[in-house]
Amino acid sequence: MGGVVSSLGKGVLSASLGMLLKSSGYKISILKFDPYFNVDPGTLNPYEHGECFVTKDGTETDLDLGHYERFLDENTTKENNITSGLIYKTVIDNERKGIYLGKTVQVIPHITNEIKRRIKIIGRLKKYDIIIIEIGGTVGDIEILPYIESIRQLKWELGKYNSIIIHLTLLPYISGEIKTKPTQHSVRNLMENGIQADLIVCRTKIRISKNIINKIALLCNVRPEYVIEYIDTNIIYEIPYLLNVQNFGKKVLCNLKINSVVEINLTKWKNFIKKFNNPKYKITIAIVGKYVSFKDSYKSIIEALIHAGTENEILVKIKWINSDIIQKNNVKYLFKNISGILVAPGFGKRGISGKILATKHARENNIPFFGICLGMQIAVIEYARNVLGIKNAESHEINPLSSYPVISLMDSQKKIFNKGGTMRLGNWKCSILENSKLFFIYNKKIEIFERHRHRYEFNNNYLKYFSNSSMKMVGVNNETGLVEALELENHIFFIGVQYHPEYKSRVTKPHPLFINFIKISKEYKSFDIYYDKK
Ligand code: GLN
Repeated sequence: MGGVVSSLGKGVLSASLGMLLKSSGYKISILKFDPYFNVDPGTLNPYEHGECFVTKDGTETDLDLGHYERFLDENTTKENNITSGLIYKTVIDNERKGIYLGKTVQVIPHITNEIKRRIKIIGRLKKYDIIIIEIGGTVGDIEILPYIESIRQLKWELGKYNSIIIHLTLLPYISGEIKTKPTQHSVRNLMENGIQADLIVCRTKIRISKNIINKIALLCNVRPEYVIEYIDTNIIYEIPYLLNVQNFGKKVLCNLKINSVVEINLTKWKNFIKKFNNPKYKITIAIVGKYVSFKDSYKSIIEALIHAGTENEILVKIKWINSDIIQKNNVKYLFKNISGILVAPGFGKRGISGKILATKHARENNIPFFGICLGMQIAVIEYARNVLGIKNAESHEINPLSSYPVISLMDSQKKIFNKGGTMRLGNWKCSILENSKLFFIYNKKIEIFERHRHRYEFNNNYLKYFSNSSMKMVGVNNETGLVEALELENHIFFIGVQYHPEYKSRVTKPHPLFINFIKISKEYKSFDIYYDKK
């Protein structure tokens, strides 16, 4: 639970704790409660809430689940992200079915019971030793009261030493001093609701002194060693390491009366940080998208670039290019000194013409190009218009009345829609054409699974126009015939994928498509390669 302000990094803290406990030999699951009334985050505007992270089973979730997967190297599922919308909907649906036998349906006990049931479902799976529960929002918000009450009840039901309450707060640094008052208030607020924090994690800009620790301990009822420093870092991946130095994981286990026998081994993690902090090269990748003013909208892509850059010992700088501003007469200028162009996923009409210009620029100038989801669709439209001569080639999403819809809704997909959804979501199989670039990138695999989140597809009625061209459809889903990936012959790196590889990139397992995109981008601009730290 977080206090004082939002955006303190609860997701990263939960993921870090999960990673430390997993490294101590325990099986961990993380459950995120979001106290808003959207039934799932799929409908949220990325501008407001950041990226929608898609799990293997096709659930549209909060971006924190991306942190969990990247830190823990584990897949999450629909059980791992619950919103108030879903909780209330379940309770109201139950009421309509008469399940509550005429009782008055209320927050206590019906909503709180439903919250506890969702936690217990994961417990009952018996697959995990410890479940980490992250409550979205901030202590003091009206919306999170039912969660706090549920946690209070659960703690009591579970009995001593079977749960631990971790409170993340902010220690503001004002006029040369660290202030503990907001933390005291937040802890007190929790106590008013019957919860005593067992461990307080303090987000801070600067190191906190023993005095401050003792003060927090005394005024907030915790032992000094249970006040943990969470300092701002260059990169989020340093956080588990810094927490481990303070024995964070061990203290949590100790509080749960679990004797850890496995020594935490963070060698791989440390190597990653060392490599990240000591790059040999530097390149700049342009990301073209329409949500560029709010970077969280592209969280997984940014992280995948960090993972892949680090793997290649390359510092990847990102130049954000708002697709709305790209025009014929500024393309060259905007993409000056760029080593590679990534056209980002997206929805709706806005910014499409700019993305088409960026794609054309990459194709014609042999600049490494990576199109993800909408980015692949743009590559198809651009090629159809400018190379195949289908002047009015369009996507049905952009122009529903188009007579030349190279991107459209396919029959095989409409069958999926009949099952209730309107998007192709989650893991789908993709068969890769042997000896294509993609085939080598995926280490000669002919079958892969990648995650999807889109409505429209390459229109197979146009396959014949592409079959003799240099744009090759190198990835296909054999069951549906849907095109999953394409590449250009005679180009240094021009790959478009209908799926989202960024969701599968992890700290210790960077995604091969990103690794290769970065590697080739570095080779393409050999003058830009030496990284001088000064
Ligand atoms: N808007 C496109 C579609 O729905 C692409 C979606 C995306 O980029 N995730 O098909």
